[in-house]
Amino acid sequence: MEVLYKSTRSSGSPVKASQAILKGLSEDGGLFVPDHIPALDRSLKEFAGMTYQEAAYEVMKLYLTDFTEEELKDCINRAYDAKFDTEAVAPLVEAGGAYYLELFHGATIAFKDMALSILPHLMITSARKNHIKNEIVILTATSGDTGKAALAGFANVEGTRIVVFYPKNGVSPIQERQMVTQKGDNTLVVGIHGNFDDAQTGVKKIFSDKGLAEEMDGKGFQFSSANSINIGRLVPQICYYVYAYATLLKEERITEGELINVVVPTGNFGNILAAFYAKNMGLPIGRLICASNENKVLYDFFRTGVYDRNREFVLTSSPSMDILISSNLERLIYRIAGEDPDRNRELMAALAGEGKYEITAEMREQLAGFYGSFADERETAEEISRLYKDCGYVIDTHTAVASAVYRKYVQETGDGAKTVIASTASPFKFTRSVMNAIDAKYDAMGDFELVDELSRLANVSVPQAIEEIRTAPVVHDRQCDVDRMKDTVREFLNL
Ligand SMILES: *Cc1c(COP(=O)(O)O)cnc(C)c1O
Repeated sequence: MEVLYKSTRSSGSPVKASQAILKGLSEDGGLFVPDHIPALDRSLKEFAGMTYQEAAYEVMKLYLTDFTEEELKDCINRAYDAKFDTEAVAPLVEAGGAYYLELFHGATIAFKDMALSILPHLMITSARKNHIKNEIVILTATSGDTGKAALAGFANVEGTRIVVFYPKNGVSPIQERQMVTQKGDNTLVVGIHGNFDDAQTGVKKIFSDKGLAEEMDGKGFQFSSANSINIGRLVPQICYYVYAYATLLKEERITEGELINVVVPTGNFGNILAAFYAKNMGLPIGRLICASNENKVLYDFFRTGVYDRNREFVLTSSPSMDILISSNLERLIYRIAGEDPDRNRELMAALAGEGKYEITAEMREQLAGFYGSFADERETAEEISRLYKDCGYVIDTHTAVASAVYRKYVQETGDGAKTVIASTASPFKFTRSVMNAIDAKYDAMGDFELVDELSRLANVSVPQAIEEIRTAPVVHDRQCDVDRMKDTVREFLNL
């Protein structure tokens, strides 16, 4: 059955998947959501016999219904190839009683690669299907990982350009170095004087600037988004939850139909929303455990029903989760508001105006499948150290937030269900924080010395993505104030 995409903020006519991917954000400022969540049409046993690529096709075909089989398989095969350093693409590693789903084996060693290695192919295919002649300008705000993954995906892709804004003082040294060394004539990387929320709000503003859109169209350009508000990011992320379940089944760790829990270190709510979609497609998931760092706006929301961003923005050792406005939560709000765009719009207007909103008791009841908690900086560091000392397994700071939250959850509930923890970045991406957590003595070492030390300690070879930036020259050194973001884009496009 065809799936169409409608906006969370109006009841205008729905669009096809390819059109939603091209637009990124709906013109009314809403997010595109599928008009229904399709059910898996292969048995879990069948999935257990599939490669990652095969499983991805069986999931994505249910959402991207205006893509032909050939188009979709072509996108999948181009995305999930030797760029990933393991055949499994997303391997599952058991450590300390949980299963870590390693989503960081792609080109930029963070889970953003899972979606951003396929998005450029989905985007170009969508442009071709819709006879788009304009060059597509990808505009992205990043808390560190999306930027590099999007740059790697779109660099030198014909018919596209990409602009990335990141908070100048809000990303890890390795993250920044990965971005500012990015090659490709069609790329621009800019550090803004503000935090991630400033970057994201600035980008959304540029997107909804109608005058600018007209001017761009006259010059042969149009914007799209590589942020997780794009449905082309969300759909590929559903696949690895199905694949993780299939792996557990194949390895006889669970029986078919057995409920598992999923823990996700959360920022913009994209990754956990994908798990929620997987659950609603029929994947046997019990609890969806939403893990936050000290920016615990989501924990408070699940506990009280009040979403309140009026608080101090904390810079933590898990910068990709330093977010107070979780964009993708809007898709969940819309759903629990009975898919009523008017009610959703009111809540989002309150968020934009007063910085907060409260959901009704009826809406809260529908969140029973979620459990929210958080880990502070000390708990996060302790979890890295504990897992290393107990099992010799080294995890990154984001994964550590999830892992620490999982332990709190088990303590509180006694729930013994098998659990998959989304492992969202390689420890090599956050080497300093990771090594300091293991032993304070490492603080004296240089960034790349630490890399070699981590490799020795964890008995894992240094990922290609890190080797590349050791010597790569810096090619982007632009900075701008938040109110100059639009001018920066205009200059890049010679408008
Ligand atoms: C982006 C990111 C997250 C947060 O994911 P969301 O989909 O934004 O919730 C967590 N960990 C890492 C390493 C990330 O890059």
